[in-house]
Amino acid sequence: MIVYLIDIDGTLLLSGGAGFVALERAFVDLHGVGGAMRTVRPAGKTDPLIIDEGFRASLGRHPRPEEVDAVLERYLVHLPTAVRESKRFRVLAGARAGLDGLRAGGHLLAVATGNIREAARMKLERAELAEYFVCGGYGDDSADRAELVGVAARRAADHLHRRLRPDEVVVVGDTPRDVRAARDNGFACIAVASGTVDRAALEASGPDRIVEGLDEI
Ligand SMILES: [Mg+2]
Repeated sequence: MIVYLIDIDGTLLLSGGAGFVALERAFVDLHGVGGAMRTVRPAGKTDPLIIDEGFRASLGRHPRPEEVDAVLERYLVHLPTAVRESKRFRVLAGARAGLDGLRAGGHLLAVATGNIREAARMKLERAELAEYFVCGGYGDDSADRAELVGVAARRAADHLHRRLRPDEVVVVGDTPRDVRAARDNGFACIAVASGTVDRAALEASGPDRIVEGLDEI
């Protein structure tokens, strides 16, 4: 049995910009600025980190911690509509078959995502993938991806009522940040080349394997 810690955006699904739409609405509500996310590159980043970039791009400064919390709160007000109305929302090819195969193989599936927990839930529910996962690590556990991956592994161990060796855990993600977070915890990493980041950069980050879809695992 292996514990798979699986990223959401770019690995299981594409939200079609729903997260950006909801964040931009939150910035308009709270700070009166439009297009706050225009220059932000979200791939592999946690929600708090993305908000920090939005602050720097639109207001020219870092946010205070309570300002990040306020944006996240407004973000969750707008996200249900943004997810529901997103026309380009889609589950990636091979994702569902891959999860079915891993579950049938007796493996444990957990989420390791930069999304805050509620945002992850909304995206996974629209994708009808939520039921596969027993627990997770999220952007509200830490702004640092390596830390939230560690939290996901600890929750998986709690779920199993035993300790996990590092060689029992595999991170699955679509960016060099997922690979780095896996390495920082001593875990293996399978990279999914879903096209969200440059293929050469993904290869250069040194994952154990690169697959085109989750069903290749
Ligand atoms: Mg991702």
